[in-house]
Parts: sequence; structure tokens; C-alpha cells
Amino acid sequence: MKVVELLEKTAKDTLVKSGLKLLNSKEPEKSLDKLFALVKKTIKKDKDSLEKVERVEELYNTNPSIHELVTGIVKDTNRNCMNKFFTNFFANAAWYGVPKRDKFLNDTGIKTPFTILISPSMRCNLRCSGCYASSYSKEDDIPKEELDRIIKEARDLGIYYFIILGGEPFINDYMLDLYEKYNDCMFTPFSNGTLFTEKVADRIQKLGNVIPMFSLEGFEEETDKRRGKGIFKKVMHAMDLLKERGVLFGVSSATSRNNIDTVTSDKFIDMLIEKGAKMSWYFLYMPVGKKPDTSVMLKPEQRIYLGERIREIRNKKPYFTIDFFNDAPYVGGCIAGKFYCHINSEEQVEPCIFAHFAVDNLKGKKLVDVFKSDFFRELRNRQPYNRNLLMPCMMIDNTKQIRDIVKKTGAKPTDEGARMMLEDPEFQKDLDNISKDFRPYAEKAWKEEFHSTGNYKMSKG
Ligand code: SF4
Repeated sequence: MKVVELLEKTAKDTLVKSGLKLLNSKEPEKSLDKLFALVKKTIKKDKDSLEKVERVEELYNTNPSIHELVTGIVKDTNRNCMNKFFTNFFANAAWYGVPKRDKFLNDTGIKTPFTILISPSMRCNLRCSGCYASSYSKEDDIPKEELDRIIKEARDLGIYYFIILGGEPFINDYMLDLYEKYNDCMFTPFSNGTLFTEKVADRIQKLGNVIPMFSLEGFEEETDKRRGKGIFKKVMHAMDLLKERGVLFGVSSATSRNNIDTVTSDKFIDMLIEKGAKMSWYFLYMPVGKKPDTSVMLKPEQRIYLGERIREIRNKKPYFTIDFFNDAPYVGGCIAGKFYCHINSEEQVEPCIFAHFAVDNLKGKKLVDVFKSDFFRELRNRQPYNRNLLMPCMMIDNTKQIRDIVKKTGAKPTDEGARMMLEDPEFQKDLDNISKDFRPYAEKAWKEEFHSTGNYKMSKG
């Protein structure tokens, strides 16, 4: 290691130690100013990072809701969970991991993502209407040893953050063992919340490196109608178990034209805050899977409204919201194959949780070799697909892109919806129309709300 690198590492180690000390003081919420000062001092030579930290600090100091959210997290979170969140997410994933991945990029020309989404199993204990997970068996799961290998290879590359999907991530006990084994990484399982017991909640608290996200598409009536009687109450119970133990958790909502008013309402958000959730992640309902359905996708005006409303909640409530699509301008548009990728339960590596196309399978293949593929390279080279970053997607906004990319790189569809995107003229026409209808709305919002600019720098990052 060069002397400069060594000095930087020592400074970082000192910061992490001092940060942990502050977070473990008697009234940690009162130490946040000191923590900001410490971070800024350590990174003062890195202008980009310094700017980002200063922006966060300014928001923290000027926006009462953000102030309340941050101090609330620091105050209410169990110390072990807080320490892991600080070391595993902020220090390892977002900090130590970056130069490691950058160095790898400089040395080899291979870009590795910030996070990996993994669906270890497509099995689920529920039988929700419209969901196909029930047709999978245990034999379709990624074996524990294989998952272990994948996470290890990812961590060696500087990837410390994993989002676990499925199926139901808590259906396999071995996942908890893997979270324990990789105790310097952070894991976010997206769960239906029905398998949470006192024992599971205790284990998550003890692990500290797991932040569950509960899928909720509305209140009791909407949830039970789709998922089955009593399910909403079970999710509420799971939230209570985690809140009692000071475990951080959030909510994810697939947003369609049927539930947008509910999941963005004050009543719903206030209920989640009351239950102890700290954030919500909103995803547009996408026409993917075995039976893609475009009829419930958000209407153009609803899609714009979702973005406006999410930004409003973020500003006015002590609650963090992310809109996977309307926040694209902040991250340079589409992030598929660049900041993240998805490993499905057959070990095919897809660029995005919604883009079901792959050229590689990890069975017998190293993770790093997947990132070298022409498919991922082509995706990154073409991003952003549109100067208007409110139209980031290669499947529903820039529909020609996915057809061209697949043709050029030989990627194969991994499910029926993806196959239809390539081969079904009716479905293609549907998607083209969705994009065409959305364009004028996106152009207006892009001009008026984003002044026609976004984080283009990041789109080439
Ligand atoms: S392909 Fe579409 S859904 Fe996937 S990351 Fe890009 S914009 Fe998002």
C-alpha cells in the first residue's frame, strides 16, 4: 500500500472509531454536529464527497423534518444496529468500498456495482393474487454454499450492500446465518412480514446488519384483499417487534393506478411513522413477469404526481422516501448494470430487478466475469438513454433501447414478459404508446421542476 493510501486509511479508521464513540455517547443525537465536523475534516481534500456531506449537513440544519428524522434514528435505534449501520453501510459500503471498486476499475477497466440484489428463492408462504411465486419449489433455490461464494466474491470486490428479494427472503433460515457470517456487510431483505416471531426479531437485533423492508400496498382492506385475510395485522405485528427492539426498518410499495392515492396519503405515511418505520421505497408497478399487465400501470399524470408527492413527504415529514423512477435525475437516470444488478434464483444475472434479460449465469462462473460482459458494457455506454432523466427507463420510456441492446449483445429474456418485449408486436405497441403518452408530461415536469438538468456526471460514473 502506498504511503498516501495508508495515511488516508488511517484517517478513515480514526474517523470510524471516533464516530462510533460519538454514536455511543449518552445523548448521541446531540453529537451529530461533531460527527459532521469530523467527517468534513477527514475528507476535506476530496471535493466531491465534501460537497455531498455539506449538502446533507445543510439539509439537516435547515429542514426541521430531516432534523427530526435523523435525530430520531440516532436516538431510537438499538446501539448494536446503529453501530452496524454506521460501519457496514456508511463506512464499508459507501466509503471504503468506493476506492476499492474505483481502483479495480482503473486496474482492469471493469465496473462493479455499489449493491447487488439477490433472489435466493422464489418460494413464498403466501399466495397473493397475481403473484407466481407459489409455482416454485425448494429445488429452485440458490444453495447456501453458492450464495456464500457469491457474497464473498462481491465483498472481495468492494461490494458491502445486498438487497435480498424473492420469493420471501425469510423462508430460508440459512439467510440469517449468512447475514451473521458477513457481519461487515449490510443486508436489506424485502419481506411480506408474515414470518416474524420474537425469536427472529431477537436474532435480527443481535445481528444488527439487517434492515428489513416490508411490502405494503395499502391499509388492511387493500392488503388482505390481495394477500389474504389477517396478513396486514401480521405485518403490523412484525413492525411492533422490530420497533420494540430498536431495529431499523422501512416499507416498500409497488405503486399502481389502484393504490397511488392510498400509499401516498398523509394517513398512510403517518401510520407508518407511528409504527416506527423510517423510510418508504416506491416502485412503479411494471409490466413484467409471467403475465405482464399494462392496464394497472400509473397514468402519466399519476407518475408525475408520485414524484411531486414523494419530494413533498421527504421535505415535510420525518420520513425518508425514495421514488425509484422520479428520483432518477439525482442519480443520472437508469442505474441498471452500473450501480446495481440482480441475481435471480436460477443465478442468471440481470441488470435490474425489472429488466429480465441476461447473458450470464453464475453457476460455475465468477461474479467478476459477469461485469465484463458486452451486455453490461453496452448498457453503461448508452446510459442515460434520454437527456430527460425523468424518462430513464430502457423498457417503458425508451422502448427501442432494450430491443437494440438485446439484439446487439445476444442477451436472452429470462421470463415471459421480457420475451414479449422483444417478440410480441401488440405488447411492444402498448409500451411504445405508454412512452409516447408520458413524454409531454415528463417534458413539462423536467423543465419546470428540474430546470432541464440532472446528475449527468453520475450517469457516466
Ligand atoms: S431499466 Fe428501468 S426499471 Fe431498471 S433501473 Fe433502469 S430505469 Fe429503473
